[in-house]
Formats: sequence, structure tokens, C-alpha cells
Amino acid sequence: MRDPVCPACGGDLAGQAFAPGSDAACPACGQGLWIFDEQPPALAPVVRHDEETLDALHDERLGDLVISKLGRPSRVVFDVRKVRFATSAGVGRLVTFKARLDPAGVTLVLHGVPEQLRKTLSTLGLDSIFETVG
Ligand SMILES: [Zn+2]
Repeated sequence: MRDPVCPACGGDLAGQAFAPGSDAACPACGQGLWIFDEQPPALAPVVRHDEETLDALHDERLGDLVISKLGRPSRVVFDVRKVRFATSAGVGRLVTFKARLDPAGVTLVLHGVPEQLRKTLSTLGLDSIFETVG
């Protein structure tokens, strides 16, 4: 069994206790990590959206920024638990984010999609293109 390695800093995370289906911080670099329910634990960097509104202000270069900072992890988890309201422009930004990551072989996973955003994605027929957790 291979020891888990931080996808952001490459730090060895052997001996760390990880609870599958939750998030934690890398003790070396502080990067938020999502622990998928797999053996050995698959760790994905977490990017948080810390505002209640997801709109056009959301950085359209986020996909590029993530790839330049994190390289090409197999998955990136986008934490949208705080989002209370998503505009159509905000949903467009989500699609752009995914479109930037897809060609790099990085799967965008949405964490904690709130009900309003879930309904919006469903109405637009976009709910099936996003992988989700929690
Ligand atoms: Zn790290």
C-alpha cells in the first residue's frame, strides 16, 4: 500500500489519521485536502468559495490559477457549502472552471452543493456533468 502524499506540496503524509469522506489540512503546507473513501486514501486539494453569492465576480481564471498552484492532481474539490445564491453568471464561471481543468486531466468535484445551486444546475441540465461529494 502506497503512503498518501500531499497533492499540493508533495509532503509525505504517512502516519496521519484520515477520516474518509471529510476534509483536513496538510500538516506541512496547510493546503485543505478532501479524503475520498478509498484505500489507500486518495487526497484531493480543496478550493473554498468563502462568499454566500456565486456570481460573475468569481475569478474566471480560477482553473488556470489552480493548475499553476497545484499542478495536475487527479481531482480538485471545490467547496461551495457557503453559497446561498448563485447567479447565472456564477454558474457560467463553474462551467468555465471545469472546462479549464478537464483538458489537464483534472476532475472538478463540487463539495456540499446547497439546494438552490443544485436546483439551478438541474434546471440548466448541468447537474450530471459535475461530480459531487458531501
Ligand atoms: Zn502539503
